[in-house]
Parts: sequence; structure tokens; C-alpha cells
Amino acid sequence: MNYEKQINNKIKTEVLVIGGGSAGSMAAIASGKEGRKTLLVERYGFLGGTSTTILDTFYGFYIPGTSNRKVVGGIPDILLEKLHQRKAMLLRPNTYGAGTGVTYDPEILKVVWEELVNEANVDILLHSFVADVVMEGKKIRGVIVVNKSGFTLVEADVVIDASGDADVTALAGYPYDGIGSHIPVQSLTTTFRVGNVDEQRTKLFNKNQMWDWMKEANQSGKYFLPREEGSVHITTLPGVMATNMVRLAIPDPTNIIELSKAEILGRRQALEYFRFMKDYLPGYENSVFLNFSTQIGVRETRRIIGEYTLTKEDVLEARKFEDAIVLCGAPIEDHHNQTGTKWEYLPADETYQVPYRCLIPKDSVNLLVAGRCLSATHDAHASVRSMGQCMGMGQAAGIAASLAFENNCRPLDISIEMLQDKLRSYGAILEG
Ligand SMILES: Cc1cc2nc3c(=O)[nH]c(=O)nc-3n(C[C@H](O)[C@H](O)[C@H](O)COP(=O)(O)OP(=O)(O)OC[C@H]3O[C@@H](n4cnc5c(N)ncnc54)[C@H](O)[C@@H]3O)c2cc1C
Repeated sequence: MNYEKQINNKIKTEVLVIGGGSAGSMAAIASGKEGRKTLLVERYGFLGGTSTTILDTFYGFYIPGTSNRKVVGGIPDILLEKLHQRKAMLLRPNTYGAGTGVTYDPEILKVVWEELVNEANVDILLHSFVADVVMEGKKIRGVIVVNKSGFTLVEADVVIDASGDADVTALAGYPYDGIGSHIPVQSLTTTFRVGNVDEQRTKLFNKNQMWDWMKEANQSGKYFLPREEGSVHITTLPGVMATNMVRLAIPDPTNIIELSKAEILGRRQALEYFRFMKDYLPGYENSVFLNFSTQIGVRETRRIIGEYTLTKEDVLEARKFEDAIVLCGAPIEDHHNQTGTKWEYLPADETYQVPYRCLIPKDSVNLLVAGRCLSATHDAHASVRSMGQCMGMGQAAGIAASLAFENNCRPLDISIEMLQDKLRSYGAILEG
């Protein structure tokens, strides 16, 4: 499409980051800290992506098992410290599942993301959607951003696609996997929060008991609970509980017609789970419904085809790589589109390394990705997608983009040694 007539604004930057989620915000912060002129473009009016629209617990910082080892560090630690200072976080020890979770107040996190981005001198465009790319051969010259001010052409030396859905990668014509492949993408979840809960009384039942009651309620025919499992957990706010129960499967969450239907069904399902909670769960008798997630939670869409694709074997055999940028010990947690969830663990206390090459789309010239759209198979993705790892990837992508700019080279051609030295100087954990 020819936008020349509509473009009423032009911006030039050194590093452009699309998507202000855990990966993108961290990438922009790292690039800004490295002294690059950096612009962060986000479609919502606040930062955080899934971390502030849907969730309240970072997984991936700690590995499951008894050692409780912390495996993500660096700039993400500054974020945790800021939440701690504001008394807006707590640790939820968990030897099973994905390990100890860092539960935070998502409203405070919005401000913490902004603080970090501002401190790194990053420019931000909120309420701005990337609708297209302008190519020069295989190179991305810039992107077209649409917002209330009209159409803006943002030209950039290096682009980081942290849109979750790999929007920029797809628009640029680079190959991807995920949607459209023979393995269905993971299911979607509308999260919701409940207030005025008697926390003492909730200790009268455990998860298994709750799942039995869900089955009973479903079999009675009086409730519609497609997932007879799921979880509810404490938050940083007294008497407020957060849930992960709703489950919906659609073939392509980037298909806006399917996604629109899922949003509506997700909220309907959430109210049904709340009705069940009030009727069955001790402590919820006088509870009130507080809020739905800002949008339905999308776990998986496009995964880029990168210079390397992380595999199930890499995960379960705890493999190591020379171009490691992040560690991960999280199990494969596949919320497949049937009713259950499949868990597969690494050997006890082990971690695998995420290679830098997973962030570089094949055949690209000046593009990196970070976050859940990395190059990984469906199974490996189900392990590496936690927000701790997304932040780690973002941190690495931001530094790598800066190195590519400084050396006037492709992200693929930067010195891995320099990238890893810089990561370590920030406190990133690369070995273990
Ligand atoms: C229901 C659910 C439960 C989960 N539970 C946990 C959990 O408890 N703990 C955990 O650690 N992980 C959990 N995960 C996984 C984790 O949250 C995600 O994998 C991770 O947050 C992805 O981060 P990201 O930065 O890659 O993407 P996102 O956080 O999705 O960020 C992408 C950003 O890009 C923006 N964007 C997208 N397209 C455009 C565009 N074209 N133009 C401009 N902006 C755009 C979006 O608005 C968003 O801000 C869960 C995921 C889901 C869906």
C-alpha cells in the first residue's frame, strides 16, 4: 500500500522497539542505557504488555525444585528492586510448577516500567500501532505507525520486534512458524480478580479439592467450566485473589474475527468460574468480582524462524550454547487446546541456555526479536516464554542492537564475546 500521501510525520531513531511488554520495555531500556537514541512504540496507553494487562506473577526468575536458584539477573533486578521499595511485590515459593513466583501489583508495575524507560532516556509513543513496514530490499528502512495523530514513518537503523505476535517480522516477509502449522497454538485465558475474600477460610481447601468441586459442578449441568483445573492465588492486596482458569482455543489469535469472539466468550466464561467460586469455595461467600484482564491472554502465535530454533531436546537435556544470553529452568508447560495442561521437567536443578541466534530472523539485515515470538518449537516455547526469560531476551536484544549500530553491521555479525561481557557487566546470569 502506498502511504506517502497519508504520512504526516517522520521520526528517525537509531534503535526502534515495537511492543512495550516485558521483552520490549527491557530491550528499550538496555538500548537506552547503552547510549542509543531509542524509540519504544506501544499500542496501549501504558507499558508492560502481558505483565500489566493480564498477569501479576513473574515466573522464570527462579528454577523449580528445592534449590530455589535465581537464574535471571541484570536490569530485571532493578525492576524487582523498584517493586520491592514500593512494597508492591512478594515471593510465592513453589517447588513444583515454574518455581518461585514474584507476585507484584500490576498497577504499580505500569509506573515502574515508565520510570525505568524514562531513566534510560528512551522516547515513547503510546497509543500507537505498527501497521506496516517500509523495506529497502531485505532491510527494514522503517515502520508505519498509526495513531490519533495520523500516519508516522519511523526510520531506524536497527529494529527490535517485541510485539509478541512477531508483527514486524511477518510484515517484512520473513518466515515464521506457529499459527498455521500442524500443531495447534496454546489456548487463551481471560484472567480475573476477586475481592473481599476471607483469606483464612481459603486455607480450608487445596487445589485438588477445588478441581474435584469443579468436576462436580460441571457434572451437575448447572455450570459451564470447560477447564476442570486452573488456579487461584493471593495477590499483594489483602482479600484480593487472582485466577488463571478460563480456557479457550482458537486456531489463530492474530485473526481479529476469531480473537473478537474469544474476548466475548472469555469474559462470559470468567463470570461462570466466579459463580462457581462463590457457590463452592470456602472464603468466597461474600466475594465480589473486581476486574477482567484488559484483554484475553494469548500464549502463542507466530514464532519466528531464526538463525537457530530452540528445541524440546535442548530444553529437556539442559543443553548449553556458545552464544548463550539467558538461562531457563522452567518446565515445558503446555496449555494445549484440550482441557488439560502438560508438564515436562528438566533434570533436577538444571537449566538450559537460550542462544542469541534464536532472536535473529533468518535472512534479516537489521531486525532482532525478543520475547515470546523467538525462534523455538512449540514445546520449547512452552518452557521459555515466562516473563523472566522474556526480560532476559529483551535485555540481550537491546545491547545487541546497540552493538550492531556501533559497528555498522548486521545483528548476526556482532561479537558474541562483547555481547556476553556487556550482559555480565549488567549482572545478567549466563552460566549455571
Ligand atoms: C494467560 C497467560 C498466563 C501466563 N502466565 C504466566 C505467569 O504466570 N508468569 C509468567 O512469567 N509468564 C506467564 N505467561 C507467559 C508470559 O506472560 C508471556 O509469554 C510474556 O509476557 C510475553 O512477553 P512479550 O514481551 O514477548 O509479549 P507481550 O507482553 O505480549 O508484549 C507485547 C507488546 O507489544 C504490543 N504490541 C503488539 N502488537 C503491536 C503492534 N503491531 N504495534 C504496537 N504495539 C504492539 C502489545 O500491546 C504488548 O504490549 C502467561 C501468558 C498468558 C497468556
